[in-house]
Amino acid sequence: MSDTPNQYAMQDPRSQYPSPPFPRQPQEAPGLTTKMEPEPDHGETSYRGFGRMEGRKALITGGDSGIGRATAIAYAREGAAVAINYLPSEEKDAQSLADLIEGEGGTLVRLPGDLQDESFCVQLVEDAREKLGGLDVLVINAGNQTAQESIQDITTEQFDRTYKTNVYAMFWLSKAALPHIPAGGTIINVTSVQGYKPSANLLDYASTKWAIIGFTKALAKQAIESGVRVNAVAPGPFWTPLQPSGGQPQDSIETFGEQVPMGRPGQPAEIAPTFVFLATQESGYISGEVFGVTGGDPT
Ligand code: NAD
Ligand code: MG
Repeated sequence: MSDTPNQYAMQDPRSQYPSPPFPRQPQEAPGLTTKMEPEPDHGETSYRGFGRMEGRKALITGGDSGIGRATAIAYAREGAAVAINYLPSEEKDAQSLADLIEGEGGTLVRLPGDLQDESFCVQLVEDAREKLGGLDVLVINAGNQTAQESIQDITTEQFDRTYKTNVYAMFWLSKAALPHIPAGGTIINVTSVQGYKPSANLLDYASTKWAIIGFTKALAKQAIESGVRVNAVAPGPFWTPLQPSGGQPQDSIETFGEQVPMGRPGQPAEIAPTFVFLATQESGYISGEVFGVTGGDPT
């Protein structure tokens, strides 16, 4: 986004970023950032770091684009060393993120691969630990969303893909990482407003997001036994490649974000600060919670 609003200036949030209508813009899943119109804002020109994550080591799944990309930029500018996972077909987004972060003197380790595979998830945690020299923050953000009008249109293949990516990978990654995360470290999951108010055409997706809430709350009770906190973020409608690449029908892209009180979708730059807060000691007394970032649409 060329004219990025200053995130730090007090202003009316309703007019801070673009509102619908948006052009129809179908693309294949997983989508690419550069094919979006307008291009999302990930804080490239606006996010200011304050050294809040100096020395931390973070792994972010789905870190190439959207919410994960904005989080990677924020973490790097706060002084963290960052590793991202993404699908090999998203190398273009991962490369441009590496160019940005490395160009600023930060660290971005790229670890592509498919999270639907348990052994890959285990290896990913091991590779991130090895490349970063440890692991303090695990952001489980990758997700798959494919809208279908009817349950009759959802194939077993789609149902598997949605559950493997959104739920099983969270289980595999958490299980592999937890023994290695030191006290003070955190796991941050990504659910959705869909976990509270499911849309009819997101049956499989919404039910994974509901599962993520339960998993977060139960795991938080276990993890605190070793001083690790577990929380989740629940985004409302965000302007990311997930949506035009099959996450919504194209009709809904034209009006995307119109339904929330702020009347527009969120931009990834607007959610990254929540991930920073949950990763640092500033949120030290918070575990097992879900933070809504929804444009005023209560969870
Ligand atoms: P995005 O497309 O930019 O990010 C999703 C990422 O998931 C992709 O970049 C991809 O790398 C990754 N991914 C998908 N399948 C994968 C697989 N099998 N293996 C490895 N990686 C895989 O979109 P986003 O909106 O930033 O999504 C991030 C998270 O936010 C998701 O969990 C999504 O459900 C959640 N969310 C998004 C919205 C929204 O409106 N955009 C709303 C609520 C929740
Ligand atoms: Mg992507």
